[in-house]
Amino acid sequence: MAFIADALSRVKPSATIAATQKARDLKAQGRDIISLSVGEPDFDTPDNIKKAAIAAIERGETKYTPVLGITPLREAIVRKFKRENGLDYKMSQTIVGTGGKHVLFNAFMATMNLGDEVIIPAPYWVSYPDMVLLCGGSPVFVSCSMKNNFKLAPADLEKAITPRTKWLVLNSPSNPSGAAYTRDELKAVGEVLKRHPHVWVLTDDMYEHLCYGDFEYTTIAQVVPELMDRTLTMNGVSKAYAMTGWRVGYAAGPESLIKAMDLLQGQQTSGTCSIAQWAAVEALDGSQAHLPVFKQAFQERRDLVVSMLNQARYITCPTPEGAFYVYPSCEEALGKKTKEGKVIATDEDFISELLMSEGVAVVHGTAFGQGPNFRISYAASLTTLEDACTRIQQFTGSLT
Ligand code: PLP
Repeated sequence: MAFIADALSRVKPSATIAATQKARDLKAQGRDIISLSVGEPDFDTPDNIKKAAIAAIERGETKYTPVLGITPLREAIVRKFKRENGLDYKMSQTIVGTGGKHVLFNAFMATMNLGDEVIIPAPYWVSYPDMVLLCGGSPVFVSCSMKNNFKLAPADLEKAITPRTKWLVLNSPSNPSGAAYTRDELKAVGEVLKRHPHVWVLTDDMYEHLCYGDFEYTTIAQVVPELMDRTLTMNGVSKAYAMTGWRVGYAAGPESLIKAMDLLQGQQTSGTCSIAQWAAVEALDGSQAHLPVFKQAFQERRDLVVSMLNQARYITCPTPEGAFYVYPSCEEALGKKTKEGKVIATDEDFISELLMSEGVAVVHGTAFGQGPNFRISYAASLTTLEDACTRIQQFTGSLT
């Protein structure tokens, strides 16, 4: 009998972590590599947040915390949802976890029975399907084409719903496409869900603050209040506050679900790191002055990357509304040959030849459930991005 659990055989290692590691290995061998595969801001955590953590240590806030999180953070979360999203949650409807990933995993773990279905619009963040599989559920993918700006068409959602559907996962702005839903688009999705009262919505709003131009961010419970009692609104400090290493995520939703997640978390990680929670209080309640700075930098980078990629032969790159990713198509490059005579048959071939020939590491679209595309994280300096895009232009220009 195998010692390792069968459940793990259903799970793949994260493609983004694998691509990042491959780039690291090549760098260690002395190759000149630009890695645009990692999903984290290149900015440092703002000083006011670091100081709040130091002050928490000095005050002796170093003990176990309640499983659901410290009261000041849960109160700050209630205020955040009210202030930024117009959502009225009580503190008893909130939970803090060790990163957004942990909160999502617990939500699935607390609700999935064998064979329950979770609708995941593709392209999707790599972890959703594997989390669902680990929890005994079945991911149901709905393809969202580039023509539809990688967004879920209400008719496709309707077709995917069955009596076994438990959750619809929404992620706006999206990792990997950067696409964000407008109010009207969310309303249209909500109209379908109103007809299917057994389906809950897990909305992953991790990139909420990273929207560009005049795009107006909204979340589904705000736009379709009828769904409030079956929506888990998940968010975190990792991306907008450059706090990926601090590991704080949170969510708010119906009390019955939060209670179930509390029970689970109490036998698992218990409360999140006390110091990181105090830092998150400052992130949510303190100065937001860094945000326009981050946003302006990201928007300039997005515009540079989109423009340079659209000048590359065989590449088509839509302009996404948010996050720090672009998701160009490399469909026209398929069937072409590299200088070494290798035929590019898939987006995975495309990214691996790009890495070997020009030293640019990106992630192939099929890893996110929709190709032939690739994901570029533009959380890098303008100089680095310009260099990377020039190399991509050289690579596609050399294909025959
Ligand atoms: N959701 C999405 C869409 C993400 O891209 C990520 C991180 O890459 C997460 C959740 C997880 O965030 P955290 O680092 O807080 O666990």
